[in-house]
Amino acid sequence: MHWADVVANQLKDKGGPHRIATGITPSGHIHVGNMREILSGALIHRASRELGVDATLYYFADDFDPLRKLYPFLGPEYTEHIGKPLSEIPSPGGDGGTYARYFLGPFLHSLEMMGVCPEVLLSSESYANGRYAEATRMVLDSREVVREVLSRVSGRELEEDFIPYNPKCSACGRISTTKPLAWEAPYVPYTCKCGHEGKADTRTDDGKLPWRLDWPARWYWLGVTCEPYGKDHASAGGSYDTASEISRKVFGREPPTPLVYEWIQLKGKGAMHSSTGIVVTGSDMLRMTPPEVLRFLIARNHPSRHIEMDPGLGILNLVDEFDRYEDLYLKGADDEGPNRDDMRRTYLLSLTKSLEEYGPSVKRLVQVPYRHLVTLTQLASSVEQLVEKLKRTEGLDDIDSVSLERILARKACVDFWLERFAPEEVKFRLCGSMPPEERAKLEPEMRKALEAMTEELASVKWDAESIHDAIYEGSRSRGIEPKVTFTAFYRMLLGKDKGPRLGFFLSTMERAEVLRRMTEALS
Ligand SMILES: [Zn+2]
Repeated sequence: MHWADVVANQLKDKGGPHRIATGITPSGHIHVGNMREILSGALIHRASRELGVDATLYYFADDFDPLRKLYPFLGPEYTEHIGKPLSEIPSPGGDGGTYARYFLGPFLHSLEMMGVCPEVLLSSESYANGRYAEATRMVLDSREVVREVLSRVSGRELEEDFIPYNPKCSACGRISTTKPLAWEAPYVPYTCKCGHEGKADTRTDDGKLPWRLDWPARWYWLGVTCEPYGKDHASAGGSYDTASEISRKVFGREPPTPLVYEWIQLKGKGAMHSSTGIVVTGSDMLRMTPPEVLRFLIARNHPSRHIEMDPGLGILNLVDEFDRYEDLYLKGADDEGPNRDDMRRTYLLSLTKSLEEYGPSVKRLVQVPYRHLVTLTQLASSVEQLVEKLKRTEGLDDIDSVSLERILARKACVDFWLERFAPEEVKFRLCGSMPPEERAKLEPEMRKALEAMTEELASVKWDAESIHDAIYEGSRSRGIEPKVTFTAFYRMLLGKDKGPRLGFFLSTMERAEVLRRMTEALS
């Protein structure tokens, strides 16, 4: 059974309406690693709804958290904002908005593109609207219990007069520089390093609970019953452990059904962290891969498996893999293995909308391999030319509008990928004609190979596979290393020793044009 269905069944067995929460602190670019959290929640949400479970998906932005330090992507003018809530710091984009919004905006847009529509909650607003008021009072009333749990489970010594609340200084606006002095319900008097003394009203956004208490408090007031979270919270004595015990002892409720997910690592760079700038942002990822493919990346891997993201050639393999699952689903293609049901389910969960919403056109979707588009995009100078080449290479008489829309969306991804992430080896430019000095440099065995292929290509059936076979077999039967022939073609067409798959590449051109170039190269 697919992992999302396993969790959905657990929720169904527990009964009652379910609230699935996900959340990220918008302290920097929200990267594809963070996407795993919300997408995992979204998959469970969809699976639950399909089981008839009354489930709601939330995205909770911790925008009331303070800016912790001067991240590498911030200018020195942000030093003075360290310690202030992200919702109250100006945007680094100079757009007049807030810091939190600057990073949240693109992320929420990405979610929409992936067909994920959670209810969005901001911690700043939740505090300001008093939604935390009751939970905050309960934490402060039980501060002895809280102190005991935090010290024991996390192993961190806390002072006798520990007040589990972080007031926000009403003079300098910082949360991290204040010291709470007492609990005088509903107020917490405090002093601040800036010299200010004040009194925070805990029913408002005068301050907030520390993270380890904010989390269970949110479970309580929002009624969270399921939550995916990263493995950093899952270690022994980590925040899930303390939050669970606080949830039982202070709020009298069981913690949500957990789902721990592993990191997404960037190939060769280690885990992605917003703070170090080693990131592929969610928006970048969506500009180079179709949204269903990004969903697929998350759906295909059990959350406990770490994912290695390779934004270079790995993208081509990822899209190919998605296409294989799609083939299996839509056309009942070859793979009849034991994982067949799981693969079909993974495909369905990857779609940004349900099959019904796609309508009958889904069965006729024209699939153009991503790597073919990488080649075609670099050869065609216009959309019309691309479509014409597509029809020729894929053997299509016509392309319906739904398919065309999808192909063009993929092409836009390919354009972005080529510009930003593609390795040099896949980039090329078709030479206008072969310069005489290049012709002179053609080694004798390459000339021999091209000569021999003139004959082969004059009569071969003009499609990718036949051309490839003709070149390969034609070379071998004449005692020519096929590699030499391939290199000769690349030099002739691209002025380099390597290029896209040759059979396909040649099939995108007219036969006469290829033969003309060969004659020219040999002259
Ligand atoms: Zn202050």
